[in-house]
Order: sequence, then structure tokens, then C-alpha cells
Amino acid sequence: MKRIGVLTSGGDSPGMNAAIRAVVRKAIFHDLEVFGVKNGYQGLMEGNIVQMDLGSVGDIIQRGGTILFSARSEEFKTDAGQQRAIDQLNKFGIEGLIVIGGDGSFRGAQKLTDKGFPCIGVPGTIDNDISGTDFTIGFDTSLNTIIEAVDKVRDTATSHERTYIIEVMGRNAGDLALWAGLAGGAESILIPEKKEDFSDIVDRLKRGHDRGKKHSIIVLAEGVGSGFEYGDKIEKATQLETRVTVLGYIQRGGSPTATDRVLASRLGAKAVELLKANDGGRMVGIQNNQLVDYAFDEVFTENHTINEEMYQLSKELSI
Ligand code: ADP
Repeated sequence: MKRIGVLTSGGDSPGMNAAIRAVVRKAIFHDLEVFGVKNGYQGLMEGNIVQMDLGSVGDIIQRGGTILFSARSEEFKTDAGQQRAIDQLNKFGIEGLIVIGGDGSFRGAQKLTDKGFPCIGVPGTIDNDISGTDFTIGFDTSLNTIIEAVDKVRDTATSHERTYIIEVMGRNAGDLALWAGLAGGAESILIPEKKEDFSDIVDRLKRGHDRGKKHSIIVLAEGVGSGFEYGDKIEKATQLETRVTVLGYIQRGGSPTATDRVLASRLGAKAVELLKANDGGRMVGIQNNQLVDYAFDEVFTENHTINEEMYQLSKELSI
């Protein structure tokens, strides 16, 4: 293999730039040529492809977002779209592709691999919803952004007698909410993986209030439902004034934390090694601080799960 490509796809996450940098530098270290594909699979089909040199990834390790931009593409989900992409890769003489993104992006990478074009996936999403890796690139940064917000809400909360609901991202996964709730000392954590009895939550809030607790913070994962609708229900049921904060896209931005930069550097470099060594169709990940890799098929069939011990602990510490 002499020439490889790299792209970022789906929802962006802080640390993707550090991963691009690692891919480019590690590839050049191995005397490979590297091409960057702009705008994910959409740009791939359009041939929006540029050569990357050592300097092209200078001064980006600390930047959020992705210098290669990201996109979603319906056309790429079709056989014709995938063939268009492979034609472009062949035209540029690219022999293998590294895809930095989430679950959807890996499904696209699997399709290309099935059609004979080797791809390796690097998990980049704030949601931490991919099985086969303890952490995804961007999760730690997003978590720290949420914690900053939770701390600020807590400051104002101490001045008023209210219930505060903070809605956080995570799609169908509760990791951001669970970690943020535990780190932020929330009274309740609502995540899609655990069905809570609504009356239990109401009872808890009332008990806390009767005990003299001035305020309560509830961290709600978006996968559970709308924070505003939940807030209305809670206010009606408890008769306690309730305020809702939906954090939204600030959770996807910002300079990556040191942890995310290191993770992105390790995973990006490992992806180059894997692409050189086999036929693709695999994802790199980290488990117990060791680099691992799994076939996409395994990643898709295993469900991501939350850490049960942490969930129990969050309940014990917030009584
Ligand atoms: P993420 O990678 O963050 O999960 P998406 O689910 O939006 O983001 O996927 C990103 C892109 O990957 C999609 O816009 C599409 O082009 C491609 N993709 C997603 N699912 C498939 C699929 N089943 N087959 C082929 N391509 C897919």
C-alpha cells in the first residue's frame, strides 16, 4: 500500500483534528502518501480530495471540529453512490481509507470494504455509544463542557428553591448523562437504558424538599425525551417550580481535553498500522487503556451498554 485516504463523517466531535493529524503523520512516518477527503462521503463521491503533508496538520491538535469538514449523505447509502466513491478513490490511486466517525459512518465503511475497498474506522463521537471501545473521541471534552454548565446552574440554584432539569446529548446512549450526573452531583439521572418509575422520581424530589433541600438537579439524556416536556410533568406532579436548560450544540464544540487528544492520537496512529496490515473492515478502540480492534460486524452486533456499577453508585450518592 502506497497511498491512503482519511475522512471525517457524521456528527463532528472535539478531537477529530487530533485524529486526522495522527493519521497523516503516522502514514508519512511509514512512507505512505495521504489524501484528505473533504465533507465526508459526500465529498468522496464528488472527488473533493487533497493531498496532505506534514504541515497541513500543524497547529490543529488543540482545535475542535474537523478541518476536513463533515457531512451526511443519503446518496452514499445506495450502491451507485458507493461505486461513485470507489471510482474516485481509484482515480486518485488511493488504496485504503480511514473513516473517523460514528456508527453510521462505520456502516458506510463496511459497505466499501464489502465492495473490495479496505476501510478502517476510528470512533469519533461525543455520545460514547460504540461497542468495542471504552471511550470514543470527543466524549471527555463534551463531558467537561456539560460539567461546567452543571456547576453554573448549581451556583444559581443555591439562590432559589427550584428543580433544575439539564438535558444533555447522547442520542440513544446515556453515557454523557450518567457521567455528568455523577460528576456534577445530580439528584437524579435519567437515561434511556434504565426505565425509572415516574412516581419514584416525584417522591424523591418531594422527600428532598421536605427535608429542607433547597434545590434539585436532574440530568436528563436526550434519548429519554424532551427536557421541556419532562419539566412540565415534574412541575405539575411536585408543585415545585421547575426550570429546564437544554445544552444543545455547545456540547459538540471546544478545544479537546488532553485525554481526548491523547486518545485521538493513539487511535489515529493505530488505524494506519491496521490499514497497512490487513484487508480493512475493522474498528480501532481502547479497552482498559490497551489499543484493540474489532471487525465492524462485531461492533454492529454487540450493543453498547452503560456501566452498571456507576449507575448504582449514582443512586447511592444522591439519596
Ligand atoms: P454517525 O457516523 O455520527 O453515526 P450518521 O449516522 O449520520 O453519523 O452516518 C454518517 C453517514 O454515513 C451517512 O450520512 C451516510 O452517508 C453514511 N451511512 C450511514 N449509514 C449507512 C449505511 N447503512 N450504509 C451506507 N452508508 C451509511
